[in-house]
Amino acid sequence: MPEPDYAWLPRESILDFEEIATLVDAFTAQGVDRVRITGGEPLLRRDLPRLIELLAARPSVRDLALTTNGVLLAAQAAALRDAGLHRITVSLDTLRRDRFQALARFDELPAVLAGIDAAARAGFDSLKIDTVVIRGRNDDELVDLLEFARSVHAEIRFIEYMDVGGATHWTMDAVLSQREILERLGAAYGAIEPLPGRDSAPAERFRLPDGTTFGIIASTTQPFCAACDRSRLTADGLWLLCLYARGGLDLRHPLREGATADELSHLIRTVWSMRADRGAEERLESPAREVLIPIAALRRDAHLEMHTRGG
Ligand code: SF4
Repeated sequence: MPEPDYAWLPRESILDFEEIATLVDAFTAQGVDRVRITGGEPLLRRDLPRLIELLAARPSVRDLALTTNGVLLAAQAAALRDAGLHRITVSLDTLRRDRFQALARFDELPAVLAGIDAAARAGFDSLKIDTVVIRGRNDDELVDLLEFARSVHAEIRFIEYMDVGGATHWTMDAVLSQREILERLGAAYGAIEPLPGRDSAPAERFRLPDGTTFGIIASTTQPFCAACDRSRLTADGLWLLCLYARGGLDLRHPLREGATADELSHLIRTVWSMRADRGAEERLESPAREVLIPIAALRRDAHLEMHTRGG
């Protein structure tokens, strides 16, 4: 959860579902075939299954996924599946209620667990649990969380703590690296085998001796920018080419001023062909690595916060 005080996007700037679908068409015309709905918290958006239906009806969208904090998922999991959502990921950093409240600033762990249970029963193609590991906050729960994921037939992905916008308490000392995560899980379970076939996926996958699989996203200590093929569209139509980008391309104005799908698609191709972003690698190279964006700057520009850009 971001700091208590933060800037909101003006309501009239938020794209409606048809506008989102038009922009998705402009991207798929350039070869994008995987779409993930994320946030902030996407389940706060009224009638979200209608957006899922719109996107799922497009054969060009081969993979349609959603990431949620899970708080509202129990009531919506079945409707999302019925609307055509393929895959779902739930963020869960702790199984302890007091820690959850401290990290998330609300006492909703039981609701999240109910949401995961509902998702497990809804029959998605895959159910994942994303856990950001922070030393001293939840790094003693790796085994508990992995066991929990296994119990609900989900695959867990441990994510290194990143110094993205909004991580106002980030320090390198708080990062538990992929190497340390593997050492700790190896001590608990025995030899861990890496799995091949990562391609451009952010997570490297591993297998425990009993066959259980899990992933690690080592975006802080072993960034994978060279293989990155992702970009992000904010709720108000700003296209960001990198998680760390300070700015992006406004697609809302051309869309609302009547640009055709072809014109938007051409714009996307032109900008993407010049993309040179490698934000996480650059952060790794920076000598004195501290908080990326001070809180005063975050309060001036909501687009710098991870909750506007899908994190
Ligand atoms: S930091 Fe930017 S370029 Fe690197 S993997 Fe993340 S989104 Fe891609």
